[in-house]
This record gives sequence, C-alpha cells and structure tokens, in this order.
Amino acid sequence: MVHLSCLVPVYNEHETLEELCRQIQAALKDQTINGQPIVYEIIMVDDGSRDGSWDIIQSLTANHPVRGIRFRRNFGKAAALLAAFRTAKGNVYVTLDADLQDDPNEIPKMLNKMGEGFDVVNGWKKDRRDPWHKVYPSWVFNGMIGKLSGLKLHDHNCGLKMFRREVAQEIRMYGELHRFIPIMAHGRGFKVTEIPVYHRPREFGVSKYGFNRFLKGFLDLLTVTFLTDYGRRPQHFLGGWGFFFFVLGGLGMVFLGLEWFLMNVMGFMKPVPIGSRPLLIYSIACLLLGGQGITLGFLAEMMVSFNIEDKDVYSVVERTTPESTL
Ligand code: UDP
Ligand code: MG
Repeated sequence: MVHLSCLVPVYNEHETLEELCRQIQAALKDQTINGQPIVYEIIMVDDGSRDGSWDIIQSLTANHPVRGIRFRRNFGKAAALLAAFRTAKGNVYVTLDADLQDDPNEIPKMLNKMGEGFDVVNGWKKDRRDPWHKVYPSWVFNGMIGKLSGLKLHDHNCGLKMFRREVAQEIRMYGELHRFIPIMAHGRGFKVTEIPVYHRPREFGVSKYGFNRFLKGFLDLLTVTFLTDYGRRPQHFLGGWGFFFFVLGGLGMVFLGLEWFLMNVMGFMKPVPIGSRPLLIYSIACLLLGGQGITLGFLAEMMVSFNIEDKDVYSVVERTTPESTL
C-alpha cells in the first residue's frame, strides 16, 4: 500500500495553506494504486513565518491529516524539508511548495511513474509560469548541472519531487541543497526520472528567492558534485591537482637550473641572472600551490577516515536475509 507523506515548507504563505490541503485531498480522494487507496499525511513545516501561517497550520489539523512543525526562526527550505523527513511516516514522500504553484493533481501521475521502478520522480515545469528573469538563468543552470553531475534533468529546482523513504534517509541535506535531491540520489545509485508537471503562476504572497540564488546554486553545485564524486576520497581530487601543479613547478625549476648550468658552468650562452625571470616566480607559485593541495588532501582524508560511517560508503538495494534477523 502507498502511504504518502506530503512535505510542505512554509514561509509566510498564510493565504494558500487551507486551499492547498483542500486540493491535496481532492487530488487523492478517489485515486487508487494497484487497487489500493492512497493513505496520506501532510507535514507542514513553518520555517519562521511571521504572517500567522502557524495559526492556520494548527487549525488545519482539525479537518485534515496535517502535522505541523514550527521553527524558532527562518532556517531555509532545505532545513524545513529535513525536519519533515524526520517526522514523515510514509513510505513515499512528495515535496510541494506551499504557494499553490505546484498542482497536487500531478501526485497520482508521479506515483504511477514510481510504480515503473523509479526511486525519484522529479517534476519538470515544462510550461513554466514564472517571470523571464527566473526562467532563462534556470535553463543555463540546469544545463550546467547536467554536464557536471551526469544527471540530465530539465528542471532540478522544481518544488514538486517524489522519492522513496530510503532516499530521504540516505542523503545528507543542509544549507540550500534541497535542489540537489535528485543528484545526491543519483550519486548513490537510485533510479531517477522526471515527468512534465503543470505549473501555475504565483497568485498569492511573494517569491522568497531572488537572482542571487543562481550564484549560490552554482557554488552548491560545485560542492555537491565534489561531495558525490570525491567526498570519500578527497585526496584524489586535491592531491590530483596538487600533484599536477607540483610537477609543473618542478619542471620549471629544473629548466631554470639547467639553463643556469649551461650559462654559468659550461659557458654555452651569455649569463643572464635567473632571479628576475617570470618563470621562476611561476614555478615557485606552482610548487607552493601543489604542496598545499597535497597536504590539504591529507587533512581532508583524515577528516573522512575519522568521521565516515558504513552507510556513507555504500547503499544497499536489497538483501536475501533481512538485516534484522542476521
Ligand atoms: N520556503 C521556505 N523557507 C525559505 C524560503 C522558502 O520554507 O526560507 C518555502 C516557501 O514558503 C515555498 C517554497 O519554499 O513553499 C518555495 O519558495 P518560493 O515559492 O518563494 O520559490 P520559487 O517558487 O519562487 O522558486
Ligand atoms: Mg513558488
């Protein structure tokens, strides 16, 4: 049976919460998956709202399967979703923005897609109803993410995402990494896909993200790709580049040394002082940079080896004998 947890981060969205609950109810009421009705709960995380959203969440618990969590202050969408992960009881989670831009009628379609054997179904706002200054940078961003992470999706930042409980348990989410749930899941071997979803313009409240999200998003992208590829073997990255620069600097020095030898000892050429050569400065810089890369790599490896847990190293899909009985 599908036990669905709808996870809703809420930051000053008092106008839409009640309608959102009504729409989720209507969307799931008569739906069945494999002949079974969908049992659902709604987890609303009030991320430090100051507009009375919390009072509404409290009142919604009377008529809807709503559970609320209230943050002491604004911690961001990723933190809100993480708190929801820790509270949700379902075996499938779906995240929805609170602003009614995401259409709950897409949930049954996403559930069917999961039924085809996927672990993550990401929404794709194919016909996107946002201002151009959000749409165009987002194209570039999605293209870049696809290149760097190897997971090509049209809309990584879509608020509507569905995934199995195991995915939420395994990924580490903090900062603003909520955009990268599909990438982190992909990095651990989960099957990820996307379906086009209907998107509505924002009619109530205001967007919480401005243009600077793209800069932050890009930096986060570097972090996520580094962590998924090299998070458990940082020396391969830092040491790799470090070694490259060290060798480059070393070659520069050897070249200068040879030249000095030929000029001053063998007298093949007219002697020129080596101290003023740009190559000397570049070579020293490369040697220092390389040495630093390698030592930083060792430090990073030490941190990993002291902190790593088994679950960080691999991800199990199934076992012949349940672990609890071993
Ligand atoms: N949100 C949140 N904490 C924040 C910022 C946003 O919980 O610090 C919620 C917000 O209430 C909404 C969702 O995250 O439910 C997406 O935010 P928004 O609609 O402003 O983003 P956009 O659709 O403009 O990308
Ligand atoms: Mg929105």
